[in-house]
Order: sequence, then C-alpha cells, then structure tokens
Amino acid sequence: MHSHQFAHWPFADAHNTASFSTTKVVREHLPVLMVSHDADGAWQFLDATTDEPGEALLVCMGCIYERDQSLEQIADLPLGWSAWRQEVGGTWERAENPPEDDDEDDGHAV
Ligand SMILES: [Zn+2]
Repeated sequence: MHSHQFAHWPFADAHNTASFSTTKVVREHLPVLMVSHDADGAWQFLDATTDEPGEALLVCMGCIYERDQSLEQIADLPLGWSAWRQEVGGTWERAENPPEDDDEDDGHAV
C-alpha cells in the first residue's frame, strides 16, 4: 500500500483505488487509449492495441494518473461507460457499454 499527493485529483475514487490495466501500459509504458468505468465501479485503463484481453494487472489509479494527467478529461465517465481516443492528446469519444449478458457464455462469434 502506498499513497500519492496530488494538487488536483479529478476522480471521485480515492487515488489508491485499484484499477485494471494491462502489461503493455504498466511494463512497456504504452499510453492509455481506452478507459472503461464498469457498472460495478471498477476502472479499466487499457492500451487498446489488441482485442485480446491479455494479462490484466491491478494498478493504483494514482500511478496511472501520475503518468498521464490528460486522463482528467474522462474522470467524470459515468458507471457503465467507456471512452477511447486515437492518441494521447486526442479527443475522447464516449459511449455507454453494451448490456452484459446474464449468462457466462463468452463464446466469440467468428
Ligand atoms: Zn500508486
């Protein structure tokens, strides 16, 4: 457990809240280009380089924001919404996540 000190913290969640990210963002420092604020309140900060889920990592939100403070622009993303951008500094687009199926069938149509 660690903490951050920010002069300005835009998120409603505490900065040591765990969020989901990817190995590419955390280890290779790829930019976050896709953000999801899940209906259950969890944040996902993803590199959007692939549709493959890959290895998810838990990262504190402060560590993500420390690296890229332009994420402030999506700090008010409602529950159940996603946002994405083409590049760092680009305009965020937002959309409500499609409703999740009740069953756990994760079959991908080809
Ligand atoms: Zn941190």
